[in-house]
Amino acid sequence: MAGVLAGLPESVLQLAYLVAGVLFIQGLRDMTHPRTATRGNAISSGGMFLAVAITVLWFEVLSPVVLAAGLLVGGAVGAYLAITVETTEMPQLVGLFNGFGGGASAVVAGAELVDVLAAGGSLSVGLTSTAAIAGIIGSVTFWGSLVAAGKLHGLVGDSPVGDTAGHAIKVVFLAAAVVAGLFLVVRPDLGTQPPLASWVPSYWVVVAAASVLGVFLVVPIGGADMPVVIALLNSYSGLAAATTGFVLNNTVLIIAGTLVGASGLILTVIMCESMNRSLTNVLFGGLDGDDGDSEDMEDIYEGQITETSPEEVVMLLETASRVVVVPGYGMAVAQAQHAVAELVELLDENGVDVEFGIHPVAGRMPGHMNALLAEADVPYEKMRELEEVNPSFSRTDVVIVTGANDVVNPKANTDDSSPIAGMPVLNVSEAQSVIVNKRSLSPGFSGIPNPLFAKDNTSMLFGDAKASMQALVNEYKESTN
Ligand code: NDP
Repeated sequence: MAGVLAGLPESVLQLAYLVAGVLFIQGLRDMTHPRTATRGNAISSGGMFLAVAITVLWFEVLSPVVLAAGLLVGGAVGAYLAITVETTEMPQLVGLFNGFGGGASAVVAGAELVDVLAAGGSLSVGLTSTAAIAGIIGSVTFWGSLVAAGKLHGLVGDSPVGDTAGHAIKVVFLAAAVVAGLFLVVRPDLGTQPPLASWVPSYWVVVAAASVLGVFLVVPIGGADMPVVIALLNSYSGLAAATTGFVLNNTVLIIAGTLVGASGLILTVIMCESMNRSLTNVLFGGLDGDDGDSEDMEDIYEGQITETSPEEVVMLLETASRVVVVPGYGMAVAQAQHAVAELVELLDENGVDVEFGIHPVAGRMPGHMNALLAEADVPYEKMRELEEVNPSFSRTDVVIVTGANDVVNPKANTDDSSPIAGMPVLNVSEAQSVIVNKRSLSPGFSGIPNPLFAKDNTSMLFGDAKASMQALVNEYKESTN
């Protein structure tokens, strides 16, 4: 069907797609720095709006009524999620978005095959081969993302399927998907006669086999590796979209999908490096390692914990010339970023050299801490990355760890059997005094105890991060007035 703009020369459509592609690239470029990230988001959204609008006006894909209804329902669900989902639940949401992107690519590629046959056309090798690839990647992404989101939300447990059996299942279903894909390419007519007519059954066999593969690929991966998996599935969703772009011969889908695929892959590599894991190890290592812990919490903490109070912490801060604040997931849970920012501002005004030490996987999504601190108007110059801040701890008087745990756990360097073994961590204990603010001695995401809490130069400031930081602000104000 032709849309309202279809009378214009084809070059108008391609030009609009090109402009949308340029906007995506500029948006991504801006998103590489927190200062320009909001603008980048707006520019990319503008590109997406242009791409969607021109596509809808050019091809009358659906009747205007169905389209409007779809936009309304989709827009309402999107707005509801944006308003209600906590930032701590963002990884699951991103996981679901990736999944829906992959699923949509698989369904659209299949629909195109059906459409071509229904219109009396023939299925070319180019069309069937790209559709088979989109079907495999899209289905793996959809089901893999659902499992990953379920794991992050605590709905799906870390239940490894026996190592050998698990690998065998993956090989069998990968082989089944590839063989069905080859059938689709070599015998596109197979099963397309009445009564199945334009159903193209081999394509849906590809989708079914790849779906099982997607589930079994992610089920055995440990919860602590989910950030890497989500980033990788994000890349897959881009690849699926780009391949569907070839199926539909749609330039903007190819550009957007390739950008998502490439940036997702770069993010995956960065996250693997941050956690000192190889991608192969994340994907195929399963849960073999000692996921629990060789030392009991009681052995580590018994009689070794020193508790402190806001008054005592402020006394330390009054004499400090350099302070580093290390935020973690708990700061996000407590929404303590504004109180933390206020404390840092006060210290700054009183001539203290104060900075943030930010671990790349602190929180529950890449850039989680930077985003929260930027929201609280913390200057970007104060946010130091792991490699920059680590050498400075030995000349730091006080480190305040607020709501962080795994990212400051020395076990990463000392215990090869720990699930975070080898992950570079913030070596906060090199500072003169370490204040750890959290509500209890409970473990963090990786579920292991943290010997930092029992160190001689560590004191625990127990309490909710927001309340504790606010107490420090009030106490510091009183003492400096
Ligand atoms: P952790 O999950 O290791 O620890 C967070 C700590 O915050 C907990 O020990 C908890 O202790 C404390 N906490 C929770 N609520 C509050 C509160 N209201 N006030 C004060 N403290 C609170 O967080 P980290 O940031 O140190 O490490 C991130 C972990 O998450 C890493 O293991 C990383 O691999 C993983 N991960 C990272 C992702 C990313 O992309 N950044 C995505 C998914 C996982 P208590 O209950 O005692 O208060």
